Amino acid sequence: MKLIIASNNAHKLVEIKAILGDYFGEILSLREAGIEHETVEDGETFLANAEKKAREIAELSGCCALADDSGLCVDALGGAPGIYSARFAGEHGNDAANRRLLLERLQGVTDRGAHFTCAIALVRPDGSEVTAEGKFYGEIGTEERGSNGFGYDSLFYVPELGMTNAEMTSEQKNAVSHRALALKELVEKLDRGE
Ligand code: IMP
Repeated sequence: MKLIIASNNAHKLVEIKAILGDYFGEILSLREAGIEHETVEDGETFLANAEKKAREIAELSGCCALADDSGLCVDALGGAPGIYSARFAGEHGNDAANRRLLLERLQGVTDRGAHFTCAIALVRPDGSEVTAEGKFYGEIGTEERGSNGFGYDSLFYVPELGMTNAEMTSEQKNAVSHRALALKELVEKLDRGE
C-alpha cells in the first residue's frame, strides 16, 4: 500500500521512511506524489492539527496519509509556545527570533523544565485512523549551544546526555526525540493490528 507523508521536510521524510519502510510498499512526500496542498493548521492541539493534515491528504489522494505536528512546551510559560512554536515571535519559521524571545521570556526564571511533543496521525482511504504521541523532556538553557538541528534545538538541554539537541548528531537525536517516540508508538499500534 502507498503512504503519502503530508510534509516536504527532508529531515522528517528520511526518519519516517526508515521507520515505516517495512509497513508500506511505497512512501512519498507530498511533492513526490505531485500534490500541492496547504492545510490551515487551526486546531487547538498538536493531535487535531496532525489529524486534519492527514485526513485532507488521504481524501485528496485516495491513499494512506501520515502527518505530524510538533512543538515546544515550556513549564514556566504554562506550556507555551506549544502549537504556536513555529511562529512564537510572529513570523512563521523565524527560528532565531523565536529562540531570542524564549530566552527573553525566561530571563531570571529558575524553573527551566520543558518538553517537545510530537503528535502523528495516519489516516487510511476508508477514513480509519491510528494516532500516536511522543514527548521528549529536557531543560531550556540560558544561552545557545551547538549548531546542528533546527528550531529550538540549541536551547534544549538534555541532562541525561549532557548536551543540547544541537550538539547531538542526527542519529543521537533520532534515537530519543519526540518524533522517534511517536513513530515507535505508531509502529506498535500497527503491529497490534490497529
Ligand atoms: P512542525 O511540527 O515541524 O511544524 O514544528 C513546529 C515548530 O516546533 C518548529 O518550527 C520548531 O520551532 C519547533 N520544533 C518541533 N520539533 C522540533 C525539534 O525537534 N527541534 C527544535 N524545534 C522543534
